[in-house]
Amino acid sequence: MKWPATSQRARLYLAKIARGHRPDLEQRHPPSKLKCRALSDITVCRIALMGGNRNACAACGWEEQAYGSCGNRNCPKCQALAQEHWIAAMAKLILPVLHIHLVFTLPSESRERCFPVCGGTRRGKDR
Ligand SMILES: [Zn+2]
Repeated sequence: MKWPATSQRARLYLAKIARGHRPDLEQRHPPSKLKCRALSDITVCRIALMGGNRNACAACGWEEQAYGSCGNRNCPKCQALAQEHWIAAMAKLILPVLHIHLVFTLPSESRERCFPVCGGTRRGKDR
């Protein structure tokens, strides 16, 4: 299957889904305070409500409206660049053999056991 062109992918924003279905989602699966905040941020990310600016080229007449981002760490739009950097960094670590790469979150109780030298965090400091 070929990945849809950029113009088609733009129609599949999580924000649009959240705006259209949030009341139903929250009724079926009441979110935690943190998840509620993420949903609120993602819902308004890069829309007029967040303010913005107009980018233009005086030479060719090109214009584009850019809206403010929410900056939430769970927002796929805001974290796209960080995601690309992470993928590039991970790609350098991939072994040149057939393998499966799993990424998962450890329960906080397990972290100290997995990273005892660093005090329970991978980077040696709290994030
Ligand atoms: Zn965002």
